[in-house]
Amino acid sequence: MVVIDSIKTGIVIDHITAGLGMKILEYLDIDTTKDTVALIMHAVSSKYGRKDVVKIENVSDIDLAALGIIDPKVTVNYIEDHIIREKVHITIPERVVNIIKCNNPRCVTSVEAGAPQIFHLIDGENREYRCEYCDEIISMKGGYSNEIIHKQWFDR
Ligand SMILES: [Zn+2]
Repeated sequence: MVVIDSIKTGIVIDHITAGLGMKILEYLDIDTTKDTVALIMHAVSSKYGRKDVVKIENVSDIDLAALGIIDPKVTVNYIEDHIIREKVHITIPERVVNIIKCNNPRCVTSVEAGAPQIFHLIDGENREYRCEYCDEIISMKGGYSNEIIHKQWFDR
């Protein structure tokens, strides 16, 4: 991982819940051996106390739905020539495809390889999602270990 202070072109993910920066890098499938990435941990924020900040150089496209599931209060800044060109406030997605994985071993998505994993938000406060096929409920609040599909897992 190459550490940088500021980026010319790329993405800055701001207001990340302190401690979640590394998880976000993991789940966005950012290649930290290839892309230039800065992870600032436990920075002081006037808005939320402590926060993490992630800066990714020369990347302009990240999965905002995945980001919204992991940490719905982050802000994504798109940087061009050291200037913020666009600021996006993330919201928790209502419907997600191939981001959360169903835990039910009898679910069609567990049995059939390649079946799309479709989930619908049923409780925004607790970040609870319901599987479209088997009605299994998955809460994304707090746990981040198995519930999200890494892109590289899905491509296999
Ligand atoms: Zn299911």
